[in-house]
Amino acid sequence: MTNSDQSPFVFENTFSRTFKTEDNVYFNEVTPAAVSDPEWVSINLQLADELGLQPHNLQSPKMLKIMSGDIRGTSLKPISVVYSGHQFGLWAGQLGDGRAITLGEHRINSAPTTYNELWDVQLKGAGTTPYSRFADGRAVLRSSIREYLCSEAMNGLGIPTTRALSLISSSTPVYRDDVESAAILCRVARSHIRFGSFEHFHYRNQTESVRSLADYVITRHFPEWLDIEDRYINLMSNAVLKTAETIAHWQAEGFAHGVMNTDNMSILGETIDYGPFGFLDAYNPDFVCNSSDINGRYSFKNQPAIGLWNLNALATALTTLIPSESLIPILKTYEPVFLSHYRSLMSAKLGLQKYEDSDEELINRLLALMNENSVDYSLFFRKLCSFSEDPEGVRNMFIDRFAFDDWADSYSDRFNQQNLDALSIKRSMLKVNPKYILRNYMAQNAIEKAVQGDYSEVNFLLKILQKPYEEHPIAERYAGLPPDWADQISVSCSS
Ligand code: AMP
Ligand code: MG
Repeated sequence: MTNSDQSPFVFENTFSRTFKTEDNVYFNEVTPAAVSDPEWVSINLQLADELGLQPHNLQSPKMLKIMSGDIRGTSLKPISVVYSGHQFGLWAGQLGDGRAITLGEHRINSAPTTYNELWDVQLKGAGTTPYSRFADGRAVLRSSIREYLCSEAMNGLGIPTTRALSLISSSTPVYRDDVESAAILCRVARSHIRFGSFEHFHYRNQTESVRSLADYVITRHFPEWLDIEDRYINLMSNAVLKTAETIAHWQAEGFAHGVMNTDNMSILGETIDYGPFGFLDAYNPDFVCNSSDINGRYSFKNQPAIGLWNLNALATALTTLIPSESLIPILKTYEPVFLSHYRSLMSAKLGLQKYEDSDEELINRLLALMNENSVDYSLFFRKLCSFSEDPEGVRNMFIDRFAFDDWADSYSDRFNQQNLDALSIKRSMLKVNPKYILRNYMAQNAIEKAVQGDYSEVNFLLKILQKPYEEHPIAERYAGLPPDWADQISVSCSS
């Protein structure tokens, strides 16, 4: 794009910026640094449609330039927003955002023009910001593909998450353990504010900035609370509620986040920052997906407790706005909300209309059996949808068939108590037990092709994972157990 190219671009008339300069303690205007030889790896047409964007406008050469960090000749005024955080349980001070640059806040045309309808459109990997410290502000292709696919897979599973609109590759070198190439992900979210954004100001004794950040979040996302005295209490209660619900979803779908540092926790409780995540293959509560997590702090079974730990850190950061005697009862709501959400998700996966107290034992016995028998978590539940027609198919997944029979007797009794039509239960089970999840080896296949310049697998997987409950005969190879080589894949924080 030359400086004289003044033709409109997709976001020209839909962007605003709700960050105000008078509060500029927590953001900075930045100019992205363009990458060389940008190419579209993928454009997420489903999300484009949800955002009211026309595909042909998005696929234009002008948008390729913008999405690769070249904003010359546009009216864009991008910003980066600082945050700190606790990493692996220890205060780490200022951390980011050293490589995410928000281009603007998009308003969906047909939506009312209230702030809570705005979506941040952000480039991840578009060069340094004032918060990059000693790093390069870039992201490599491999980790960007993982985030691109997983955030859309999570959305397909109905799990609250940031989204991904496009992915660009380039010839710009990036130096990690090896030389890799830079990619730029366009991430879209209602908010990119993290628990660590509040901690940043709290630990610097910038009390007024904690307040203005809280006011910002309320103005943008909860304008209905603006005039009420308890607005900060509501903000904290909402963070507790939404975090508990999201983590209940993770546990029910077998998702391990991998780096649940407080800077990777969204104030809206959405899943954010996809790094060394992993979905369970064989059920194992001690599963640790991040090879950098030596002590297993972020193991699968620890996630609910870590969610609460992180909310405690958020509560500490808000102590200048909310008295401690109010914070404690709010934090105490976490466990019951988590449990009730988790139980209702698990009941639905088992085809039970409503959770009953005795179901706890049924669920725990099942998980213990799956663990002892190394049964694949997602495959089991998908097969269970057909249990009434094909009980042997489910039974054969277990080594200890007698132990399974014992459990299956209790399950059948409970299932039949409902007196419901088996076919209609099967239909509802198929809507909550995915056929496709993003296993590491699938992402790896897409990455290996993409580094050779072939982006077909990224786009193929995107389509499948956006509709994980549907049958996709062309993707049958991804509907079974992972291949043996999948065990060798190691994912760490390197990105
Ligand atoms: P993460 O492990 O991705 O959650 O890292 C925390 C923060 O460190 C990121 O959000 C960035 O702000 C910063 N960071 C990580 N990698 C880079 C990089 N290559 N350049 C600049 N900042 C980075
Ligand atoms: Mg992060």
